[in-house]
Amino acid sequence: MISNQPAPLRRTSLAAVAACMILVASIHGCSPRSGARGTPQPEGPPNVVIYLIDALRYDRLGINGFSAGPISPRIDALADQSVVFDQAYSCAPWTVPSVTSLLTSTYPCEHQVFVNGQKLDPSLRTIAERMKAAGYTTIARFSNPLLNAVPGLERGYDVYEYSGGDIVTEIARFLEDAPTGRPYYLYLHTIEPHDPVVTPDEWLPDGGRVDAETRTEMGELKRRYSGLTRADFDAKRPLGTIDNTEEQQKALTRFSELRHAIDFLYSASVRRADEGVGRMVDMLKARGAWDRTLFILLADHGEELGDHGGWFHEHSVYEELIHVPLIVHFPRGEFAGRRVDETVTLADILPTVQDCARGSNWSGRGRSLVKLLADGSPPAARGPIVTTMRVNRKKYYRPYKETRGDINLVIRDRTWKGIWNLEPGTFELYDLRRDPGEHFDVSARNEGVVGSMRRSAAAWLNRCRQSAVNAGDATDVVLNDEMIEALRAMGYIQ
Ligand SMILES: [Zn+2]
Repeated sequence: MISNQPAPLRRTSLAAVAACMILVASIHGCSPRSGARGTPQPEGPPNVVIYLIDALRYDRLGINGFSAGPISPRIDALADQSVVFDQAYSCAPWTVPSVTSLLTSTYPCEHQVFVNGQKLDPSLRTIAERMKAAGYTTIARFSNPLLNAVPGLERGYDVYEYSGGDIVTEIARFLEDAPTGRPYYLYLHTIEPHDPVVTPDEWLPDGGRVDAETRTEMGELKRRYSGLTRADFDAKRPLGTIDNTEEQQKALTRFSELRHAIDFLYSASVRRADEGVGRMVDMLKARGAWDRTLFILLADHGEELGDHGGWFHEHSVYEELIHVPLIVHFPRGEFAGRRVDETVTLADILPTVQDCARGSNWSGRGRSLVKLLADGSPPAARGPIVTTMRVNRKKYYRPYKETRGDINLVIRDRTWKGIWNLEPGTFELYDLRRDPGEHFDVSARNEGVVGSMRRSAAAWLNRCRQSAVNAGDATDVVLNDEMIEALRAMGYIQ
């Protein structure tokens, strides 16, 4: 029987486990070569698998407290054999900038890829390029076509292909044909639960169903709403030239009326994604590869389901959009069963892969999670961390423009979360321990905290700006004068 209870993981302080981790990490840096536990180990560097579930919310997993149905049994079981990072953040709230950050360990202000069609600067080396140089077979299989929308992300892959089918089955076939004796790096990017409306009935929990008429309405409504938000962008006009806010509000109202059906289908789609993860793990185990594989499960961003009045993604940096699942199975199950409360970001993945697979030091933006696990200093001693940057060049909705603007920076410090809205110049502050839903902005009565976090964020932004690469091909991007000035003032453009 499948349980929907949170997995019985041990919540262990970093300090308590630091001593043994320092030993383990210093011996083999996450590589299975040394046999640190005294058992014979296979030779050579580990395989690396990044398994990305598009738009998976952190709070939709059983291990994270979701209790409205057993929709993630395989991910929960994986977590039990792995390390769970409970405070993991995507670097951006939607696919294109987030995946670019993930695969290059840079933030949007550095890689400058804000919209479809922009090219990855040649100076930014991707995980695949690094792994290829290290002798790995490199394969990417993805169900989100946006992965083809950033020229340059395909660099370093032996195979880089969009798939409209079952990725796990396809990747198994690739591995059958892959050269033996060489480790492999796989990037799998699944589309569920990005578009829950298309989830087949067979995945709906408890025999429930959503009638065809409602599905059709939801699909059409989402397409229409998406078009409304991008009306100016698609027509290559400055954002705000056409103000269709009232039409968007009608769509948002209708989404709210359909909330239960959308939520139900989203859960069903998570269940489908969970099954894929399970088959992938089973396949690696059946091939005898599991113990020598670094397996990283994550999401590129979450999904808003009306939490703050909005729907889907891109439009904000609240938790439902940027707090993502991150579950890491290290080779031989090192560190398994631990949950880490320290704030980390998807920019930390490349350094972790580099550390585990190649044993090399990292001097870029992110931090190796292995090094983090091995460091005994408490999280509070590490100071504030900028996790996420939203730069909107695509969508216009007057209330968001007025309150959030188009550039937002997120900074975390212990239980505090700050959101710096650069254009209106406002700073929101939430205490996530007391207010995990971010409903009560407490900035007005915590001016000292706001001042400190703002200074840290400004210093970070200045450093980030200095390391910005060429923006690449931005021919599809149209900016209004206000945005050009704001971006120029911040150093994003010349
Ligand atoms: Zn996505």
